Amino acid sequence: MELKKERVEMGAENAGSIELKKGLQSVFGFSGFRPNQEEIVQAILGRRDVFAVMPTGAGKSLCYQLPALLMPGVCLVISPLISLMKDQVDAARAIGLRASFLNSSQTLGEQRAVSDALRAGFLDLLYVSPERFAMASFTTLLRSVNLSFVAIDEAHCISEWGHDFRPDYLELANIVTLFPDCPIAAFTATATRKVERDIITKLGLRDPFTLRASFNRANLFYEVMPKGDVDRQLLAFVRRHRGEQGIIYRMTRRSVEETAEMFQANGIKALPYHAGLEDSVRAAHQEAFNRDETDVVVATIAFGMGIDKSNVRFVAHGDLPKNIESYYQETGRAGRDGDPAHCLLLFGYGDVPRITYFIDQITDDAARKHARACLDAMARFGSAHVCRRKQLLGYFNEQYPQDNCGMCDVCSGTGEEVDATVEAQMLLSAMIRTGNRFGGNHIVEVVTGANTQKIRQCGHDRLRTYGVGREKGKGHLHAVLRHLLAKGFVRRTGDRFPVLETTELAGRVLGGGARFRMMKPKDDEGINMSAIRAVDEMPCHAPLFEALRALRKEIAEQQGVPPFVVFSDRTLRDMSARMPSGEHEMLCVSGVGAHKMEQYGAAFLEAIAAFRTEHPDVNPLVVDDYIAPFTRKGSLSETVKETGMLMEEGLGVEAIAEKRGLKVDTVMGHIEKLVESGKTVDINGLVDTEKLKPIVAVLRHQATDELKPVFEHFGGSVPYEDIRLARTWLRLRALQGAGMM
Ligand code: ADP
Ligand code: MG
Repeated sequence: MELKKERVEMGAENAGSIELKKGLQSVFGFSGFRPNQEEIVQAILGRRDVFAVMPTGAGKSLCYQLPALLMPGVCLVISPLISLMKDQVDAARAIGLRASFLNSSQTLGEQRAVSDALRAGFLDLLYVSPERFAMASFTTLLRSVNLSFVAIDEAHCISEWGHDFRPDYLELANIVTLFPDCPIAAFTATATRKVERDIITKLGLRDPFTLRASFNRANLFYEVMPKGDVDRQLLAFVRRHRGEQGIIYRMTRRSVEETAEMFQANGIKALPYHAGLEDSVRAAHQEAFNRDETDVVVATIAFGMGIDKSNVRFVAHGDLPKNIESYYQETGRAGRDGDPAHCLLLFGYGDVPRITYFIDQITDDAARKHARACLDAMARFGSAHVCRRKQLLGYFNEQYPQDNCGMCDVCSGTGEEVDATVEAQMLLSAMIRTGNRFGGNHIVEVVTGANTQKIRQCGHDRLRTYGVGREKGKGHLHAVLRHLLAKGFVRRTGDRFPVLETTELAGRVLGGGARFRMMKPKDDEGINMSAIRAVDEMPCHAPLFEALRALRKEIAEQQGVPPFVVFSDRTLRDMSARMPSGEHEMLCVSGVGAHKMEQYGAAFLEAIAAFRTEHPDVNPLVVDDYIAPFTRKGSLSETVKETGMLMEEGLGVEAIAEKRGLKVDTVMGHIEKLVESGKTVDINGLVDTEKLKPIVAVLRHQATDELKPVFEHFGGSVPYEDIRLARTWLRLRALQGAGMM
C-alpha cells in the first residue's frame, strides 16, 4: 500500500495526528476517530503493549488495522473462531488492506500460497487461530518474516475467570518469549478487573498502555415489557422492524423452534439456531442471516460470539436471561455500526423459577449462590422503574452521569408510571371469586361486565366484581393483568387450557396495604418507534436507502461476501442523505474509502443518479461538510518542499511566486500538495479570506471539485487562481479541522 511505503521511507516511529487522519479518511473512509481509537493506535505505533476493554461496536478492529497498515511488516491477528476469519479478511480486503488467514479449513495448496505471500512481505494482516500459533512449524515461519506486532482479539478467552475460557489461548503466553521485540495489543469487550489482571499476567504484557472504555452503548434503545402472550408480542415487535434484521433469544430449543415456525407462518423470514441442530444447518442459518437472506434468527444463547454482522437492528429476549452479563452481551450484538438499534426484554417473574431449577443443579455451593444472586439482579433490572442504562452500567460499576438517558423506555417519556391498585384489586378479586380456574380473557370480561354465554352459564354475572371495571377499558385491564403476571401476583397454570391463578403475593394488594404501580406505554402498541429513530440516526431518504440496500445485496451475492462487508447500514444511510453525484462527493460519505470507491463507487453513483432522475424534486439532506479526498500519493518533490519552507518563514503566495520566479498558479499547486501530504499550513495568513468567501460557498455546493464550473458560475469574473486557492483552503480546513470563515 502507498501509505505504508511512505511511512517506511520516512522511518518514523510515531505518526503525526494528521497522517493518521489521512489514513483513516482515505482507507477507511471515516472522517474522525471514535473515542479511544487514536490513543490506542498511537500506543501501538510507539511499539507499546496495549490492553484495551472496549464494548462491542466500539471499533476495535480499526485499532489494529490502521497501525498494521502504517507499520512496516505484517501484523499477526489472533482470532478465536475459524468460522469468522473469512468474513474478517473479506472486510479488511474490501477496504484495500492486504489481509489473509491461515487455518485448517484451507487446502494445503491454499495454505502454501498464504505462506508464500507472507514470506514475500505481501501482507499487512494475517489472521490465525490460537491453535495455529501453537504449531512449531508456524512459529518457525513467523520468525522468517518481519512481524510488526501481534493483535489478540477476544483476549478474555485466555482467562479461566472470563466467560469464554479457551485453553488454546494459553499458548499465547509464549509470544513474549518467542518474539521478545514484538509489541502485543490485546482487545476484549468484556473483562472485570480480575479478568483484566489475569489477561495481562498470562500474556506477560510489559507495562501496557491500558484502556477501559465506557460500557455504555449509546445507540441501543432498551425496552422492557411485561411478558404476556409472547408470540403475539414478538410478532408485533418484529413487524415494527419490517425490512430489518435481528435476533430473538428464547430459553429452550423447543421454544426456539416454535417461535421460528410462528414467524414463518406469519410470513416473516425466520430461521432457528440452537445447539441441537446439525453443525451444517447451524452454519447455513448463520450464513443466511449474515447475508440478509433471513430477517430473523430465533436462537438460544448458543448463537453468540460468531456474530460479526454490523447491521443487527434489534435483539429481543422472549424469556429472562440468567444474568445481566449475558443480557449485556446478547443485546450488545445489536447496532455495531453505530446506527440506532432496539433491544426488547419480555419480563415475567414466571421465568425465575424455571431458571432457578437449572441453577439448583449446580453442585458447587459458592457457584450456585453466585448464580442465584446474578439472577436476582436480572429480575430487579426488569422490575424496577429505573433508567435501564443506569442499571446496566451500574452493574458493571460504572456510573452513568446523566439523569435521563433518553434511550430507554423509562427515560424516553414514551411510558409513564401509573397507579393501578384499584384495577389490580378488581382483577385479583375476580380471579379468586371465580375459583382461580379461568383464563385472562374471561377474567377481564367479568370485570368489564361483558354479556357472554360463558359468563351467564357460570353465573359470573351475579358476582360482586361483575362489571365493576366497565369504564377502565379492556385494553388497559389486559395490560394490568400482564403486569400482575410479570410481577408474580398471578401465575399461569394448566397445560392444555392455560388458566391464571393468584399467588401468595396477591393478598398484599387485595388487603389494601400495598400499592400496585406499573409502567404504562403512552401508546398501547409499546414505545413509539420515533423515540428510537430520533436519537443519533442520520436523516435519510428512505426509498433511496432501500434501493441502495437492494443494490448492496446484489453486489454482495455476486462477490460471495456478506452485504455489510460491502457497505454498512450507516454508510448507505449517509449516502442516501448526501446523494452524491460524483466521485468526489462519494468519498465524503462516511465509510467510503479509496478502495471501496474504486470497487463499488460507480454502481452506487449510477443508482443514485437513476433515483434523482425519477425524483427530481428530492434534494440532498447533507451538503455542507466538505471533506477533501486524499488522492495524492508518493513523497513531496524538492520544489514543493521549498515552497513549504518559504511559507513557514511567513511569506504569502504572491511573495513566494515572485521570489522563486514561478507563476502564482504553480505555487498554489505546491500548497495543495503540501496540504494533501498532511502538512500543517496557516492558510488564513496566506489568503484574503473575505475575497474567497463567495467562492468557497459555491465550491461547497457543487458536486465535483473541478474549478471550471465555479469559473463559469461567476461568469469569468473570478480568476482561476482564486478558485484554486479557495479549494485548497477548503481541503485544508477539512484536514486540519480549522474553523469556518
Ligand atoms: P468491535 O470489534 O469493537 O465490536 P468493529 O471493529 O467491528 O467493532 O467496528 C464496528 C463498526 O464501527 C464497523 O462497522 C466499523 O466500520 C465502524 N467504525 C469503526 N471505527 C469507526 C470510525 N472511526 N468512524 C466510523 N465508523 C467506525
Ligand atoms: Mg471485533
